[in-house]
Amino acid sequence: SQRPFSSIFKASDLQVELSQHLKPQPDPGALVFGKNFTDHMLTVEWSQERGWGRPYIKPFQNLTLHPASSALHYSVELFEGMKAFRGTDQRIRLFRPTLNMERMYRSAMRACLPAFDQAELLECICQLISIDQDWVPCSDSASLYIRPTFIGTEPSLGVSKSGYALLFVILGPVGPYFPTGSFSPISLLADPRFIRAWMGGVGDCKVGGNYGPTIYVQNEAAKKGCQQVLWLYGDDHQVTEVGTMNIFMYWTDEHGDLELVTPPLNGIILPGVVRQSLLDLGRKWGEFKVSERVFTMADLLKGLHENRVKEVFGSGTACVVCPINHILYQGQSYHIPTMENGPDVAKRFLKELTDIQYGRVSSDWVHPV
Ligand code: PMP
Repeated sequence: SQRPFSSIFKASDLQVELSQHLKPQPDPGALVFGKNFTDHMLTVEWSQERGWGRPYIKPFQNLTLHPASSALHYSVELFEGMKAFRGTDQRIRLFRPTLNMERMYRSAMRACLPAFDQAELLECICQLISIDQDWVPCSDSASLYIRPTFIGTEPSLGVSKSGYALLFVILGPVGPYFPTGSFSPISLLADPRFIRAWMGGVGDCKVGGNYGPTIYVQNEAAKKGCQQVLWLYGDDHQVTEVGTMNIFMYWTDEHGDLELVTPPLNGIILPGVVRQSLLDLGRKWGEFKVSERVFTMADLLKGLHENRVKEVFGSGTACVVCPINHILYQGQSYHIPTMENGPDVAKRFLKELTDIQYGRVSSDWVHPV
């Protein structure tokens, strides 16, 4: 009896096969990002002919792929990155996961992968986390990283829409971004020869092809003693993103007004969940101007020269906020006085968001598992 064609998959159809061999859990003090995985995973298969299969939670295992799979040749692939946090009340919470589901859906449409119901996927993810709940660290500095992934599995070398696809989700415990507990600032290489994303491209989607080519540039930065890449764009060297983070500058603008500024979602910026949250919080505080607009290296350097730049920091799921203290640009190293200024705004964002994530403050931004 063949299943009827299914245009969505539903959490109520989940099939669960529990692992008979639970793995020993790693030492929470020695977690390296992305190296440890939990006991189970979620998979959902799709084909053009039959639509979605049933979602399946099963023991964590290797995939079997046809060697011509479109994900492997043409990067028909996308992913998400989110976290589950265990509060002091032992409850497990996700932070604004519907924003990740929306972004994943948009990436899927751009990759010509099939539509899915965002709420049903989120519910499947919650059930997976629930089964592996012992893996969510009992710590207010660690969390469980969630990696939803969607790949084209068309077994053909034609560059065309994939007729087969696999959506899967894997989980792994991660430690604090700043291991010493300190809020350590990073240095950046800003070299306009390297471009992460461009107008008309896919910089606003979380597709694998945006990330593989950045590793070379990250290595160039490391060779020059910098920890991350500051991505510039255009002849005017617009400041766009930093590594895999959005970027914010808190300064006194040209008119003498205090302003928090980040680049606009104009197609070359990944719409970060933390980016949106900092904008929302900043606007709620109402203490300074909050702007989404283009700014250039020239604007930043002029501001530095005139002592108007207070804090520059990255934002992302990994660190929440990450202070920046040096930029190497056109052979010259510029000091950013982020740490000298507290950093008051970055620290306040960090505290407000982590208080919400770990349930110390109640908020409708959290989704209980
Ligand atoms: N920019 C890029 C290029 C990223 O990969 C990420 C991580 N998803 C971010 C910004 C930050 O996004 P988020 O706040 O959703 O983690």
